[in-house]
Amino acid sequence: MKHLPLLLLLFLSSCMKGIKVDMVIHNARIHTMDDLNTVEEAMAIRDGKIIEVGPERQILNKYRYDESIDAQGKDLYPGLTDAHGHLISYAEQRLSADLVGSKSFEEVLVRCEKYASRKSKKFVIGRGWDQSLWGNSTLPSNEKLNELFPTIPVCLVRIDGHAALVNDYLLKKAGIDANTKIEGGEIVLSNGKPSGLLIDNAINLVQKHLPKFTQKEISESIIEIQNELLMYGITGVHEAGIENKHIELFKKLVGDNKLKINLYAMLLPSKENFSFARKNGPYRYKNLHIRSFKVYADGALGSRGALLKKPYSDAHHSHGLLLTSIAEIKSIADFCLNHNYQMNTHGIGDSANALILSIYKNAFERKKDHRFRIEHAQVVDPLDFARFAEYAVFPSVQPTHAVSDQRWAESRIGKERLKGAYAYKTLLKQYGMLAIGTDFPVELTNPFLTIHAAVERKNASNEPMNGFLPSEALSLEEVMRGMTIWAAFASFDENRIGTLKKGKDATFVIFENPLRSAPNFQQNFSWKTIIKGEIVYASDEL
Ligand SMILES: [Zn+2]
Repeated sequence: MKHLPLLLLLFLSSCMKGIKVDMVIHNARIHTMDDLNTVEEAMAIRDGKIIEVGPERQILNKYRYDESIDAQGKDLYPGLTDAHGHLISYAEQRLSADLVGSKSFEEVLVRCEKYASRKSKKFVIGRGWDQSLWGNSTLPSNEKLNELFPTIPVCLVRIDGHAALVNDYLLKKAGIDANTKIEGGEIVLSNGKPSGLLIDNAINLVQKHLPKFTQKEISESIIEIQNELLMYGITGVHEAGIENKHIELFKKLVGDNKLKINLYAMLLPSKENFSFARKNGPYRYKNLHIRSFKVYADGALGSRGALLKKPYSDAHHSHGLLLTSIAEIKSIADFCLNHNYQMNTHGIGDSANALILSIYKNAFERKKDHRFRIEHAQVVDPLDFARFAEYAVFPSVQPTHAVSDQRWAESRIGKERLKGAYAYKTLLKQYGMLAIGTDFPVELTNPFLTIHAAVERKNASNEPMNGFLPSEALSLEEVMRGMTIWAAFASFDENRIGTLKKGKDATFVIFENPLRSAPNFQQNFSWKTIIKGEIVYASDEL
């Protein structure tokens, strides 16, 4: 009995000691991603912010806490950001007939029939077909769609969103015939009549004749997508282009505390979005951040919409498409500079990239730290690389595109132009940073595929064996920076997120398995994902 007061004293002193915080994480390998690449063991968190990161003993002795997590020696990183993804398109894709991975056009048709009968819908909207998986590279036409669906509209969007196959019923409803012309788009003809294939801006012609998903359906789908992202440790997305009505949708999701990830939403150029920017300037509401415009200079390589300096190697009559006029791109750049907005321009072909660079040159002359981005920067004339450095142009790249496109990229552009394609290391050397994303739903959200593609230059099946253009490989550290601190820079958020240090948001992921890269694909998942000190995903609670 006489020992009790001493024990009590010890107990009390251990309760009383130290500074009070909400949570301590310890026994972790904390990759702070600071400039020195410091790895620490423990972290104290209060009110959603990091109070201190340091050695195990130091943190455990200095603080008292309500909750602690023993991370079992696992890797802990700042929460990942997907610097280029499309939440709205992905949500719509999940509500549509899923055509991703169809191995033949017949399989596409079967999936459409299932969709139409299951949902007993009076339309078929499908997404995700890719003719390069069908054993021939010919783009499809609509004869069979017309047979199966003579009386309801059908619109099947290609995996990259830059081509759509529609049936005659929808063509007729939209008033499209062999004589219809559209700037920045193509209505593909076969035997003098529309084949049903629409390229780039031509897709807009049918859009308003299709039924819309409700805001409720889209919101619910976005929350499902968020669960998928959190499972991978993704705590932020740069949404690459939204319409005005989606601002309200995101505001509601954020206001209701349903959307917890950091959302950096780029606005598509429209009258309503310009007036939003004029009225609000850089805009922040909780975790929603809006201060950029997304502009399409050209289309995609897969559907031969990317704008090239010389014709396609497999279509000698075609240079691709300019989707937005040069005058308009220039005037948007001016608007962005005047309203302290960032401009993020989609540039796939070498001609599109050269054009954007020359417009960004003027931006650089007006404002050195403009952070204007080129989304994709996919095929660059080797003579143009230095201009990324000269005009401080931020490259935003998606390594999984390289390993998806490697099957057919050479046939589109030939060996010579391939030297400046998917050149992530070369781009990194210019600007010193890369924003890295996936372009979901064009690719999967899985960041471990991005790591594998960037470091090993291989797809999930570990092809090609020696890597695609392997001299352009990034290191694991570089790709992790591209998904953390550099992505934060790319959205003007480097003071709040992207590294783990005192004063920043306590937003991070602890991975289930050690994070590494290897010649064979390494799947991994989050063990716990934490946003501003709140556990938003835990694998053991499933
Ligand atoms: Zn995109």
